[in-house]
Amino acid sequence: MSITINYHFLSIWCVLGAVLDLVGGITRAKMGTRKKVQAFVRVRPTDDFAHEMIKYGEDNKSIDIHLKKDTRRGVVNNQQTDWSFKLDGVLHNASQDLVYETVAKDAVSQALDGYNGTIMCYGQTGAGKTYTMTGATENYKHRGILPRALQQVFRMIEERPTHAITVRVSYLEIYNENLFDLLSTLPYVGPSVTPMTIVENPQGIFIKGLSVHLTSQEEDAFSLLFEGETNRIIASHTMNKNSSRSHCIFTIYMEAHSRTLSDEKYITSKINLVDLAGSERLSKTGSEGRVLKEATYINKSLSFLEQAIIALGDQNRDHVPFRQSKLTHALKDSLGGNCNMVLLTNIYGEAAQLDETLSSLRFASRMKLVTTEPAINEKYDAERMVKNLEKELALLKQELAIHDSLSNRTLVNYDPMDEIQIAEINSQVRRYLEGTLDEIDIINLRQIQEVFNQFRVVLSQQEQEVESALRRKYTLIDKNDFAAISAVQKVELMDIEGNLVGEPDGQSFGLGVAPFSVKPGKKPKTKKTPKDQVSSSARKEGASSPVSGKDFDVASISKTQLIPSSKDGDLKDMLARERETSSIEPLISDSPKEELRAPRPSTPPSRTVAFEEFKNERGSEINRIFKENKSILNERKKRASETTQRINAIKQEIDETKDALNFQKSLREKQGEYENKGLMIIDEEEFLLILKLKDLKKQYRNEYQELRDLRAEIQYCQRLVDQCRHRLLMEFDIWYNESFMIPEDIQVALKLGSSIRPGMVPISRIVCLGEDDQDRFSHLQQTVLPEGPDSITFYNAKVKTDQKHNYMKTMVGLQQSHRK
Ligand code: ADP
Ligand code: MG
Repeated sequence: MSITINYHFLSIWCVLGAVLDLVGGITRAKMGTRKKVQAFVRVRPTDDFAHEMIKYGEDNKSIDIHLKKDTRRGVVNNQQTDWSFKLDGVLHNASQDLVYETVAKDAVSQALDGYNGTIMCYGQTGAGKTYTMTGATENYKHRGILPRALQQVFRMIEERPTHAITVRVSYLEIYNENLFDLLSTLPYVGPSVTPMTIVENPQGIFIKGLSVHLTSQEEDAFSLLFEGETNRIIASHTMNKNSSRSHCIFTIYMEAHSRTLSDEKYITSKINLVDLAGSERLSKTGSEGRVLKEATYINKSLSFLEQAIIALGDQNRDHVPFRQSKLTHALKDSLGGNCNMVLLTNIYGEAAQLDETLSSLRFASRMKLVTTEPAINEKYDAERMVKNLEKELALLKQELAIHDSLSNRTLVNYDPMDEIQIAEINSQVRRYLEGTLDEIDIINLRQIQEVFNQFRVVLSQQEQEVESALRRKYTLIDKNDFAAISAVQKVELMDIEGNLVGEPDGQSFGLGVAPFSVKPGKKPKTKKTPKDQVSSSARKEGASSPVSGKDFDVASISKTQLIPSSKDGDLKDMLARERETSSIEPLISDSPKEELRAPRPSTPPSRTVAFEEFKNERGSEINRIFKENKSILNERKKRASETTQRINAIKQEIDETKDALNFQKSLREKQGEYENKGLMIIDEEEFLLILKLKDLKKQYRNEYQELRDLRAEIQYCQRLVDQCRHRLLMEFDIWYNESFMIPEDIQVALKLGSSIRPGMVPISRIVCLGEDDQDRFSHLQQTVLPEGPDSITFYNAKVKTDQKHNYMKTMVGLQQSHRK
């Protein structure tokens, strides 16, 4: 990235492209306002000026041409004889000095401010293009635009000590569509290996193979210019090249970096000084052979230049044919676009040249239509930018250190974290999630970001762990995989709707759902045995009560259903599993208060065994209803399937009868139809078919109606079955708690004046209740629960809070009662 300006002549091939590629970071052009191309005319001094034919406007900004009528064309002569050309200035008998002031000075001056510029001389051979551009090399006074431009550049550089401005030059000749480097003869320029090519890149156009020369002072620049001029002349002798038949482009490249500001911004610009080949037309030359070839090339390239200029002048055209010739291609980023453009048309003042003069002026007026939008070429020095950012970073670090020391935070490190530090944060996050760490201290932004990052890491690890734990225990089936579900149904692990047999509908039945007996208005009126109570309420639900959708909501666990891996997954097995994995109520045997329980006749039986007992004992009635409902459901399902089969059979018969009828109809149509008083006469066979079809349709309707009724019944029965299953499991839980888990003395306390059965209260909570809490609890029962099942969450929260506060007290109380 280091392009220093200290070394002398830069002499590498392709150097311009390389320079642009290396230095060119981000390019931005500050857009200016639109501006017309400036067009001037310089008339070659002559003693034989055609005063009658060429007239200048008073402001010296127009030329009128008057042509005498060609008498040979006869009486009727529509030949145009007068033209008027508007220009930016006519230079007649103007000194080289004035020409430079008028034509080039501004453009060169603006080039130093970052604007590209192009100055072109156009006109027929001998009209003074080279004289204008280069001037008389032997006479300082008559020097042309090129040396004057170089002088101006160096003078302006001297006037700007605040900027380090580098100047480079190149000199290109285009002859017969070939590119020549007019400065290739310099000793430090290596011989060209490959022919030069025009290359386009985002930075612009550059000529690969053209030598570009760094010049640190005016004199060096002049040497380069003379070198080029000499080569131009030598080439015309040795290679038999006619210099008036080639285009020459002298380019001055500038790059300005601020010396005072450590600004990464810098400006680049170039100024193209173009001496075009003679514009005279082919017919005039009367040439042949080599000259003809040259003329053809010139004509082509100038006409392409003209086409490009016409396209540039046409606001509606977005394509400009730059690549048609080497000239337009090489000047692609210097014609129109964002540069200052000046055209100087050199003309003869003699009457004999009027044709060509007219043609040259036409070109000039077309050029005047082109608008450009000069803009500063601002670039960013990537190297300087990095250096500046590094400086700023260092400064900010110092600033931060000061802040830290002022606020006594001396050990803060702002560098990127290493593996050990990240591992430490990971451990902090884990401890925080487990609850062993209360808070994670905030140190700096990097650390905060890493904490969040580690949260994500831990979370995804936990997800994986849970999933693999589930996979160890269950087989995961896609909910939409009907084949898999039906396979499972076949082994009777799931019911028809894909729910697991015995699955408690995805709802917790610990304390999550209030039993019906405590729902308002569901309270049994007469005191019954617990057994009766269960069966009556269950029967009540099963028989008549309209059930709300909420109670039956079969909440699916997830997209994938969990199916036990074992094959004997019946209701009790399910139950055992459900208990095992339930997070709402911890496994009773794991309870830390187990040893505090009042002794029972024996240790609590396993839930699976107890469930069998329950079904024969308190749960027998509800179990019977459950089985009954299930068998009704199965019977209805069977009937529905039979009805469906019948419907399908009828449908098939209908289709067949229809076909037969259609056949009969077509037969009748073929044989001729009989009509009697507007009535169609049909044969008996067709008549019978019509009757049959009518009958079948009636049957179809009836069967369909039956199927619809059956479906409604099935739906209803299904709900009943679900409800019963739910109740069965819930009642079992209550029974199990009452029979084996809750100390009898507490049961007595809980039962007093209450509609809540002790077994409904989670064991973990009951064993925590002290004497005072029992009062509070019964108070809660009376005040909170009558509000309905929705109050349960409130109740849960209240109990939890009380539980926390009174934990110690409760322990002591229970130990005392245990000792008694
Ligand atoms: P072109 O490059 O257009 O073919 P030149 O610049 O070579 O024409 O000019 C042809 C001749 O006319 C040269 O000898 C040149 O010195 C002379 N000439 C052209 N314009 C002027 C001028 N304005 N003042 C004096 N001599 C001129
Ligand atoms: Mg010339």
